[in-house]
Amino acid sequence: MAPLNYLVVAFPAQGLINPALQLAKRLLHTGAHVTFATAGSAYHRMAKSDPPEGLSFASFSDGSEEGLRPGIDLEQYMADIVRLGSETLRDLVVTSLNEGCKFACIFYTTIIPWVAQVAHSLQIPSTLVWVQPATLLDIYYYYFDSYGDIIRNLGKDDPSASLHLPGLPPLTSRDVPSFFTPENQYAFSLPLMRVQFKVFKEDKNPRVLVNTFDALEPRPLKVIGNVTMFGIGPLIPSAFLDGQDPLDKSFGADLFRGSKDYIQWLDTKPEGSVIYVSFGSISVLSNAQKEEMARGLLSTSHPFLWVIRNDKEEEVGGQEDQLSCMEELEQKGMIVPWCSQVEVLSHASVGCFVTHSGWNSTFESLTCGVPMVAFPQWGDQQTNAMLVENEWKVGVRVNTNERGIVEGDEIKRCLELVVGDGEEGEEIRRNAKKWKGLAREAAKEGGSSDRNLNAFLEEIQMEAN
Ligand code: UDP
Repeated sequence: MAPLNYLVVAFPAQGLINPALQLAKRLLHTGAHVTFATAGSAYHRMAKSDPPEGLSFASFSDGSEEGLRPGIDLEQYMADIVRLGSETLRDLVVTSLNEGCKFACIFYTTIIPWVAQVAHSLQIPSTLVWVQPATLLDIYYYYFDSYGDIIRNLGKDDPSASLHLPGLPPLTSRDVPSFFTPENQYAFSLPLMRVQFKVFKEDKNPRVLVNTFDALEPRPLKVIGNVTMFGIGPLIPSAFLDGQDPLDKSFGADLFRGSKDYIQWLDTKPEGSVIYVSFGSISVLSNAQKEEMARGLLSTSHPFLWVIRNDKEEEVGGQEDQLSCMEELEQKGMIVPWCSQVEVLSHASVGCFVTHSGWNSTFESLTCGVPMVAFPQWGDQQTNAMLVENEWKVGVRVNTNERGIVEGDEIKRCLELVVGDGEEGEEIRRNAKKWKGLAREAAKEGGSSDRNLNAFLEEIQMEAN
């Protein structure tokens, strides 16, 4: 039988490209040919790399030279990507068809539901690759089903009020995605999610591949009506999953630059001693918050590796200079503009991750057995932080003051709790070890995620014949 062709389409942001690219690599292992499409500057960056055999890169238009950067008019950007993306992706698929390459399935990431509409119009099966926990998909499902008002108004009269949705842990207003409040700067993603659920309704057999695993979210994976969810995570390079493929060491799609000297620096530090700090690829801390972070880090005896991204990479160092205690920070720790995060989290010297709780960061940390200080900023990060603290008990979540700042003393409290000798810290570290083992179990050949992906692909193969 001729090898199948798949198209994987990713929204052009690091947190969506990374898991989608890992999925593409898994698909290659089945002998398929995979075209990986993303937009603009992310595509140009990736097109310069040397993809594994069978994988090729293609692009669709997002109408932007710069791509998704802080400060961009997000609403305009999203409107452009829907319109131009639909047109250009359609052209890409039609051109492939004319050249004799019919895609057996189009995989697409969160917030680009229009890909499913393009696929449908060309009678090609499509499936969503959900890059957040299943719990989040369920919350959206309930929101659009009949709980919209209840979720929006949660905590308005009583901040401690909690909502009990079937199959999910209790949720307070602090735990639901910030997208539900219209004044949130990312509220534009809500209409896109609405389109996604409309797509599910219109599909005879909607299937979603979720970057999670069965043992991590057994009940949330079963919640939503007619949709079948397949837990296929963790989608991280396989060299970090007990060396299934020792050469597969990077996501292969860094959209930011960094050097590698931090690994030598980590090599000099004792086991479990280093605090790693990163806020992902989009969030930017205010200067006031950075000063408090510095205060918190300097108050412990631990060395730290802190990623302070510079969004204009030519100006590396620009943001760092604004910190008042730079000299002291550089004596005790290391500040880098970007790093290979999974490599850092896998390093024996790393004992704690202060994270913005983006799902990739959270899941990578859990898979590497690194306990967390969850420091959510917006969106799904609040829910992820709640899961880390309450459900999986692999970390602690920071509290903000009345001005929305997490103070240095609070950061110190959380760090001491996670890396300190107390009973709570020990339990957190024990749990982190347990989840690391379970994540690897799920990912290995014959593990639940491997079986789920194979089961899904068998369905697709049967439909293609
Ligand atoms: N990342 C990285 N180096 C860094 C910071 C982040 O490689 O210095 C990667 C990280 O491993 C993760 C992704 O960027 O895969 C960030 O995704 P996440 O969902 O955590 O956050 P987002 O950037 O979407 O807010």
